[in-house]
Amino acid sequence: MSEDLSRARRLVVKIGSALLVDQESGAVRRDWLNALADDINHLRSTGTEILVVSSGAIAVGRRHLGLMQKSIRLEEKQAAAACGQIQLAHAYQEALARHGISVAQILLTLGDTEERRRHLNARSTIVQLLTMGAVPVVNENDTVATTEIRFGDNDRLAARVAAMISADTLVLLSDIDELYERDPRQDPNADHIARAPSHHVSRREPVELFKKGDPHLGEAQRVLVGDLAAVGREARGEVVPVHEAERLL
Ligand code: GLU
Repeated sequence: MSEDLSRARRLVVKIGSALLVDQESGAVRRDWLNALADDINHLRSTGTEILVVSSGAIAVGRRHLGLMQKSIRLEEKQAAAACGQIQLAHAYQEALARHGISVAQILLTLGDTEERRRHLNARSTIVQLLTMGAVPVVNENDTVATTEIRFGDNDRLAARVAAMISADTLVLLSDIDELYERDPRQDPNADHIARAPSHHVSRREPVELFKKGDPHLGEAQRVLVGDLAAVGREARGEVVPVHEAERLL
């Protein structure tokens, strides 16, 4: 794994809330984040540019606003995201400052990746930051995104951003055992895909991969795979979704 990643020239790594935020207390897992920062520092020293797409704003903000009930309304999620995002950004800044690395916050909606002018603006800012040696930390702009806020959107956002900046590698860090070649509910022998070989991402037609236990199984997942296919085409690189991996290296 580490050997593969140090070959990457431009790497996008997506961090899921479950890894970054303690689910009981809603606090950022500082030790885990420091370990991630160490890995980022190591990879950068081998010449890899790194962009982070991070979830966790809602999970962190809920605790601060006392929204501990199981389900919360959209407006409450947006408020929680606004409150949590600033703390999330601060946590990344602290963790990467230990290595003298600058952090830059970018909040995007999927729409920003679709509309040409906004797409080009976002791309040139991100590329500028990478050129200047900063680590952009991207999240969805949850205060203006509405129907989009739900688990899994940052997977799509990460795939879009990877395509936008012509990243050659995308890593989805998650605690969830996610991708299967066939629907594991229909076929218990379906192969788990730990790494999508390039043929999965270089075809014109999206390959159907299935996410175990995903209530949105189907359309959303196909969109993600479609995006991954776009990354493969644009970057002509290998897309490496890593699941059940808690660390980059
Ligand atoms: N943008 C959401 C947050 O930061 C997470 C969305 C996702 O996990 O896909 O809390």
